[in-house]
Amino acid sequence: MPKKNFLENFGELKKLKQEKGFIIAIGGCMMQEKHITEKIKSSYPFVDIIFGTHTLQNFPEDLYNVLETKKKLEDIIDIDGKIYEGLPIKRDSKIKASVTIMNGCNNFCSYCIVPYVRGRERSREPKNIICEIENLAKEGYKEITLLGQNVNSYLKVEKEKNIPFEQYKGINSFATLLKKINKIDGIERIRFISPHPKDFTDDVIEAIASSSKVCKLVHLPLQAGNTKVLKEMNRKYTKEQYLGLVEKMKNKIPNLTLSTDIIVGFPGETDEEFEDTLDVVRKVNFEQVYMFIYSRRVGTPGDKMENQIPEEEKHKRFDKLKELVESQMEKSNQKYIGTIQKILVEGESKNNKDVLTGRTDSNKVVIFDGDRSLIGKMINVKIISEHMWYLKGEIYNG
Ligand code: SF4
Repeated sequence: MPKKNFLENFGELKKLKQEKGFIIAIGGCMMQEKHITEKIKSSYPFVDIIFGTHTLQNFPEDLYNVLETKKKLEDIIDIDGKIYEGLPIKRDSKIKASVTIMNGCNNFCSYCIVPYVRGRERSREPKNIICEIENLAKEGYKEITLLGQNVNSYLKVEKEKNIPFEQYKGINSFATLLKKINKIDGIERIRFISPHPKDFTDDVIEAIASSSKVCKLVHLPLQAGNTKVLKEMNRKYTKEQYLGLVEKMKNKIPNLTLSTDIIVGFPGETDEEFEDTLDVVRKVNFEQVYMFIYSRRVGTPGDKMENQIPEEEKHKRFDKLKELVESQMEKSNQKYIGTIQKILVEGESKNNKDVLTGRTDSNKVVIFDGDRSLIGKMINVKIISEHMWYLKGEIYNG
């Protein structure tokens, strides 16, 4: 939720508290930012509990204390949290589930607040991840998305710093984790977000190529296409290294498609440097690009940089990038027409309850006519037309 709306919603919360006697608790990574908690305490004194990312496991106790004492409570610590297992998870889908494999980040990209609010990287024990996914498979889940700020450095910090972890069924890296999940009966698809290009080692590329359930759409955040801007962003790779990695992946992973994140208008980015971003987009031909206009985050090095780009200029660059991305998407959608795609049927389309929707391996949304009994199944669909944000298909039994 954008920060402005987040604070704007507080008026509504006050009404709920007055009318229904609710306890108001606010938690999460924004609460690790001091200027935000100060703002909440001074402007919204009716908030009862403020808790951060490292104290989530205390929430039942915090709530009990507030109910008992009727006093406000703040539960935020700055040290890196441990990973707490067994916290209840509310899942929206019965078909697709996200599974966190690690928390925190050690990369300190200069525009990003995550390392300051989520702490340093720490990986979950392999056994706990496998148990969670085996249980999800038993419950009928078909698709797993592995989550982490830097998934492909799973267990890297533990190995570098000799932090003990229990190897489970030979899992001691992200590549071995992928291979092991690939063998879990009932799971049909495995995705992961977000890897970091600098940690994309050959064994991970090999694991993706050789694991039939691992989707061949890889999200590979670029952020900027110019080496100087990448250095300022502290991304730890150059334009050439990024393109070299893409080339290597395309050669080794059959049917690979790529998606990415791009930030336009980072402080100091010149028009010419922005052209490098467009150049990379043209060369890689991403399946999907998540585009962001750079915005300052208090507490990050980027916020302190003096050469901020005027808003108008940032928007001009954003529009230029959008135009390029959309023209590429149109072309890339056309290549699907007439092809047979394996999709996981997710349910009724949100926009039209009369049709079903599912996604291809490359994460393209497909809508088609079909019986509700297909929900949760993998089926073949022939693509008959393309639209900017979705494909239309028909069930293929050939
Ligand atoms: S952008 Fe990603 S890799 Fe960089 S600091 Fe933020 S979370 Fe870490």
